[in-house]
This record gives sequence, C-alpha cells and structure tokens, in this order.
Amino acid sequence: MVTVKSSKKIFTEEEISGLTGICSDHLRDLARSKHLGSIVRAAVQGGDPAERRMFTNSDLMVLAVLAPRCHH
Ligand SMILES: [Zn+2]
Repeated sequence: MVTVKSSKKIFTEEEISGLTGICSDHLRDLARSKHLGSIVRAAVQGGDPAERRMFTNSDLMVLAVLAPRCHH
C-alpha cells in the first residue's frame, strides 16, 4: 500500500518510481499501455523539448495496484 500526503496532487516519474518501486523503464511502458499520466513537454534551451510524464494521485494508486515492484 502506497501512502502519500493528501496535499500532494502531482508526481514526477522519479517520485512514482520511488513510491511504487517500479523502475522508470517499466513505469514508462506501463504508463503508455494503460494511458496513465500526462505528457508535458519541457522546453530545453538549445535542444529538443524533453518529454516528461506527470502523474496524478489516482494514477499512482492504479500503478501501485497494477504493478508489483521491480526486482531486477
Ligand atoms: Zn523494472
């Protein structure tokens, strides 16, 4: 069971990874196949925009139920 402060509404990939124990590679695969999280494009100076995924509290709960933590 994952518990977070109720005041927290938005999570980055790193935070989700830390909370659920799912590695970022698997997290990205899962997010893509289950349509979780939303893509935000952060402008990077002098380069391609970085694609980042942000997750809501409910995305986190779904991920925590769907996926076991990674052991590899
Ligand atoms: Zn993994």
